[in-house]
Formats: sequence, C-alpha cells, structure tokens
Amino acid sequence: MDVRLQSRTQQRREDRVLGRYEGDSPGPTLIITAGIHGNERAGVVAAQRVFAQLGEHSPPAVGRAIALAGNRAGLQRNQRFIDQDLNRLWSPTAMREFLSRTREGDRVEDAEQAELYQSIVDILGKADPGFDRIFVDMHTFSAPGTPFALCSDTLTSRAFARRLPLPLILGLEEAIDGTLGEFMIRHCNVVLAVEGGQSEDPASADCLESVLWVSLVSAGVLRAKDCPGYESHVRRLRELRRHHPKVTGIIYRHPVQASDGYVMEPGYRNFQPVKVGEKLGRDRRGDVRAQHDAVILMPLYQSLGNDAYFLGAPRNGAWLWWSTLLRRLHGDYLLTLLPGLERVANAEPGEYSFRVEGRALRLASRGLLQFFGYRKVRREGGALVFSRRPERTVDISSAHSRGRRD
Ligand SMILES: [Zn+2]
Repeated sequence: MDVRLQSRTQQRREDRVLGRYEGDSPGPTLIITAGIHGNERAGVVAAQRVFAQLGEHSPPAVGRAIALAGNRAGLQRNQRFIDQDLNRLWSPTAMREFLSRTREGDRVEDAEQAELYQSIVDILGKADPGFDRIFVDMHTFSAPGTPFALCSDTLTSRAFARRLPLPLILGLEEAIDGTLGEFMIRHCNVVLAVEGGQSEDPASADCLESVLWVSLVSAGVLRAKDCPGYESHVRRLRELRRHHPKVTGIIYRHPVQASDGYVMEPGYRNFQPVKVGEKLGRDRRGDVRAQHDAVILMPLYQSLGNDAYFLGAPRNGAWLWWSTLLRRLHGDYLLTLLPGLERVANAEPGEYSFRVEGRALRLASRGLLQFFGYRKVRREGGALVFSRRPERTVDISSAHSRGRRD
C-alpha cells in the first residue's frame, strides 16, 4: 500500500476513536459506538466526556474500553444517514456480500462501514482471550419519552442489561434486521443498545454519560469506588425508571413501507398504555388500531422508518426467573413435543430454529417461543421460522477475512 495513503487511512481511523482507556492487566473488552445515526450526537458527547475524565483521573482499570464514532459523514451534517442507514447493513447476508466485495461501494455509508468494521476487527483481535467482550451502542429517538435499554435476548446480555437501572426492552433488538448488534452478537458475549432520550434534549447526553459509567463498572473494567460521582450516575438512571416496569417484552410490531402512507396519531410517548381497538394511526387502507392491551414503544414521528410502532407487555420477576432457569436447562427441547412445531438445525453448529405452520398455531406458540428467546422471525413460504441470538462467542479474527484487505 502507498505510504501516503496508509498514513491517511490511519489518520481517519484514529478520528473514529472517540476515546480509549486501557488497564495494566488483562481483562474484559468494552466496545462502545455512538452516532451510528448521524443525527444522534448525544452518545458522542457522552463518550467524549467520560474518556476526558478517565484521562484526567487515571483510575485503576483492567482490560480496556474503546468508544468509536459511527456514521462520521452523517454526524458532520447532523443527518441520520447520507445514502443508507448504517445500522441496517450488518445482517449475515449483507455481511457475506460485504466480505466478498473486492472494491468499495459508491455510497457514503459503504466507506463508513468498511472503516468501522476494520476498527472493530482490530479491537477484537487484541481482546484478551477468556474475558468478556461487551458491546454497547448508544442512540437517541425522535419523540419525547423515557430512555430505555434493549439487549439481545441471550442470558449473558440480559444479566448485563439488568445491572443498568433503565427500563429494559426484550425483543426489540431482534425485531430490526441488519443492526450492528446483530453482527456483534456473533463476536461478543453481551450486546446492549441504549436509547438515551430525545435527540435534541441536552439531558440525553447526561443519561448516556451515566450509562457509560455504569457499563464500565458492570463490564468489570473499573471499580465503582474509582469512578468519580458513581452513585449520582446510578441515581440518575434509577430516577428515569421510577414509573416504568423494569422489563418489557415486545409482543407486536407494526411494519410499514413508505407506500403505506402511515401517519401516527399525535401525542404518543414511549411506555404509554394503549387499549385494544384504540386508534393509533392511519394508512391508505384506513384506521390502524391497537392489536392488544399493551404499552406503546417507538411511535414513528420521523419520515424515515419501517416500524410504525411496537407494543409491549411488562415481564415480571417470575417470568424472567423461570425463563432463565428453563433456558439454562435447555428446556426449549420440550417445544419439539408440541405438534406443528418443527426444530431445524441452523448453518452454525449447535444452533436451532423452530418452524411453525398455520396462523392459529403461530399465535398460540409465539409467547412460548419468546419465553425461550426465539424472537427473530422470518417468513419461509407459508411458515414462520423463529430463531434466537447465539449464546456462545466466536473468534472474529479467524471467522472473517476480507478479500480486499491490504
Ligand atoms: Zn439511532
């Protein structure tokens, strides 16, 4: 590679690093991304604040924490994305295509993805073997409302997420295809995303700053007593959760396309209760009404988006306890005893999906499948196939190499 070009690439990659902090001894690797949507700057501000304080106070640490900027071109223009959503390019199919490409695509986000991917590969390549790899992705949202966390529904991600005192949503991560989290769950034990508040609200950066301090401690990189003002960060998050259930499970997603002309009724906020039959919006076919008694999540008030809203139901401690226990005992094997549910092996060894035929059966079995973490749904002919995020980790350096790498 040309030396001048090499140094320029190096320069660009360094700019992508918002902060880095390393301990003296081996330990976990915490990777943070901020601004993968360019209009969501609060995470960038939060990361810069936290790493500036780490540099100033130099608290003892093990392992490392690194924060990366997501869509740098989008951030520069305060735009969600330029040509395509950078947080929808990471599905297994898209990644196969990405890794086999021999030259960069022409869209702005192709270059963003290539750089971000290389930064992540470099970090994971240096991660200490035998220690946790944790990924935290920071976002903000368009409508006013309470911040919340969402995690892949694996047991290790759940355990990590529950140490963060924000409302936790299960099933949202799996409902959206091609997020960076979908890629990272194959290479990290824990994948967590945080929606830190409304994009323009200065309180969102404060919330995400607190999220980062708690994540640094939960990951085991820092000890709570070494973090400046740790208790106040925990209190801030607890206060935000005070009026909401600790855990909410997604029970319904209302997908839309631009051609549907969907318009949300005004005034809905995250976690607002809705009654079955309540008018939530309208599209070209007529009124859209709530399908369940539930709480509404992520109501769509921006022009770009494929999800009109989600409906969720609170999950109490008993539900979580039983779900964790039975999953540890591989109780999902019992699902094979139900008529109409077929267990099929995935391409990855040791991973399975469930294939369900027939609408009535699908409705009856969906809750049960979610209980065992099977939340990712895809259509295959007349059947639905339910899969879940893998619990194991894979060594990224051996799993992937790109044809065009220099
Ligand atoms: Zn976002």
